Amino acid sequence: MQDSLWQAVLGEIELSVSRASFVTWFKNTRLLRYKDEILVIGVPNVFIKQQLEQKYNSLVVSTLSKNGISPQRVEYKIHSGITPSRKEEDDTVILSDKSANQVSSRPNVTTLTHTYRQGLNDRYTFENFIVGSGNELAYAACQAIASSPGTKYNPLFVYGGVGIGKTHLIQAVGNAVRGNKPGAHVVYVSTEQFVQEFLDAIRFKKNTDFAGYYRSADVLIIDDVQFIAGKEKTQEEFFHTFNALHQANKQIIISSDKPPKDIPTLEERLRSRFAQGMAIDMQNPDFETRCAIVQTKANTIGATLPPEVVDFLANLIQTNIRELEGALNQLLAFCDMRGLEPDIGVATSLLGGNRTRPKHISAKQIVERTAKHFQIPLEDILGPKRDKDIVVPRQIAMYILRSELHLSFPKIARELGRKDHTTAIHSVEKIEKEANYDSDIRSAITEIKERLYV
Ligand code: ADP
Ligand code: MG
Repeated sequence: MQDSLWQAVLGEIELSVSRASFVTWFKNTRLLRYKDEILVIGVPNVFIKQQLEQKYNSLVVSTLSKNGISPQRVEYKIHSGITPSRKEEDDTVILSDKSANQVSSRPNVTTLTHTYRQGLNDRYTFENFIVGSGNELAYAACQAIASSPGTKYNPLFVYGGVGIGKTHLIQAVGNAVRGNKPGAHVVYVSTEQFVQEFLDAIRFKKNTDFAGYYRSADVLIIDDVQFIAGKEKTQEEFFHTFNALHQANKQIIISSDKPPKDIPTLEERLRSRFAQGMAIDMQNPDFETRCAIVQTKANTIGATLPPEVVDFLANLIQTNIRELEGALNQLLAFCDMRGLEPDIGVATSLLGGNRTRPKHISAKQIVERTAKHFQIPLEDILGPKRDKDIVVPRQIAMYILRSELHLSFPKIARELGRKDHTTAIHSVEKIEKEANYDSDIRSAITEIKERLYV
């Protein structure tokens, strides 16, 4: 088993625990070994080891088994090679005594502190963010901010559903600012963490350090601000931080799953502060964007996916890009492990089953939809005509019957009014091949399929 498979397992775990738990307990783990039925996972410190053993082991075991791995035993081992990146350490100034208080008897306090505070992740950049109709406005605003922070759109408030790239985009701003100006103090914090740090700061009488840290930011990025709902004291603290930064023309970037007006129990004065700059709605990615994301991620890993697999994944998961990535990783890891090519057959058998399609599609619907797409009468596609502009649609219909419904060739032939099933075999093979280089055929297939499922 390779680390890529562990990454796929992590992708799924990420979906079933809270973000804070994932970051704290799972993010810095690696697969160290899988041999003789024993799977060893490397963890950064004893604290995380204990949590994983005591609290999360069954989740780990069941997610592994969903991915086809059932070792006799899973072990967690402290592994010195796993430390957060330098950048994350730079962000970790004020809370070291807080963590020391929590785990004073443990030797590797610093590592724990670092893991606890996320900071910016280098992985999130503008370069690897795919721009499409749902996110282009937010992208443009973020780029403008990155090139001159604090001058326009202040604050920038980005909102939208789960897994559509809010965190990626706002962290990309942070990374770009740091890249342009290495000394800039860029602070990224999740709201959960902000709340926690604030409470701890009060408890350990460190609120001046806390306030000082956030107020010294050149760019403050605060993620998932909806979690501030109902937390009055934190809201008040945040209000002051906000004002101090805003007055000093420091950039503030906020993300949320809903617009300011819909966050319950948000103090009015904060609400109006949020509305002062620019609020941008990030929408679900369209089909093309989803395809581009799958294709790009696969290429980055060095995998090549046949176009129909790209389409399949993009059809399978339509809103949450994190899930889309998870499905891709799962497929690639599965193929890698078994030495298979990631073709449509493997993809459907691995992923097709556990997510039901919006509705059941019949052979008749596919043939009708194809005829309609090419604007030819149904009786022509089913009839004897051999003109090219009838033959190609007929072959495409056969191909879709095969790839979507997995019908046998004799059955496919019958659906198109043919007697000889070898015609169906040839047609399917031909389209399969042509779809690799003919973008017209590829987009026709994609469009027909997309319409089938909406
Ligand atoms: P959110 O914060 O909105 O819940 P994230 O920013 O965490 O979503 O995105 C989820 C995953 O999808 C991340 O791994 C991110 O890199 C990826 N992602 C989201 N949108 C895009 C995009 N447009 N291009 C490339 N990757 C994306
Ligand atoms: Mg997020």
